[in-house]
Amino acid sequence: MAPSDTDGTGRAVPDFTAPGYAAILRRFLEMGYAVRDFESAQHDTRHLVLRHDIDMSVQAALEIATIESGMALQASYFILLRSDLYNPFTSENLHDIKQIAKMGHDVGLHFDASLYAAAREPLEQAVSCECAILEAMLDQPVRTISFHRPAQALLGLPGRIAGRRHTYEPYFFHDMGYCSDSRGEWRYGHPLDHPAIEEGSALQLLTHPIWWTGTDSIDRIVRLNSLRTGRDGSFADALAANCEPYRAAIADGPA
Ligand SMILES: [Zn+2]
Repeated sequence: MAPSDTDGTGRAVPDFTAPGYAAILRRFLEMGYAVRDFESAQHDTRHLVLRHDIDMSVQAALEIATIESGMALQASYFILLRSDLYNPFTSENLHDIKQIAKMGHDVGLHFDASLYAAAREPLEQAVSCECAILEAMLDQPVRTISFHRPAQALLGLPGRIAGRRHTYEPYFFHDMGYCSDSRGEWRYGHPLDHPAIEEGSALQLLTHPIWWTGTDSIDRIVRLNSLRTGRDGSFADALAANCEPYRAAIADGPA
């Protein structure tokens, strides 16, 4: 199915833009889907679970969270604690994550199991530890885990982890439909073409906010290079704020 909406001028709204994301959500609502979280979704009815794994940018997530909030919809946002790509506890990032929570979205842990030993016991301990840190920083409980780039063994893993639900449980991954925008494309089909729709069953829709910000369709590499350039600027600002000679040097301009 082609992108489903128009922007008011009769043109189709492209996927991988903020209006394109809103258009997909509107189509699901028109088809009788109700947005539910991981705690309340039922696999055999038209429930749509909106999941966002924050792999690269909290600010991109805030933009998408604001769109959903404007549509009175609540999603689940998952935060990495040990990524090289962002620190969730900088002043700006923590503020923005709290904003996302304030809008009524659920905030869970995005957990990179590759950083730990693979056996169940150390996995449980590490999840428990990261959840405790995130809970302390957010001052609210963490109820759900999503694995970052999960190994095959974690897909469909039954049972709770550190007492919490996880998004690849069989109930969310096999019993209901699953659709993801990994790598910034619909590699396994468009969500509006998913068989769950025909069956009238639930769907877990995973999107990564970095691919959906802004109104223009942007090449993935250009999008990431733009993120990188912005980060370089803020890193320079932080160096200047923390080191007077550096501040003076850049005030004088490039050598
Ligand atoms: Zn991830």
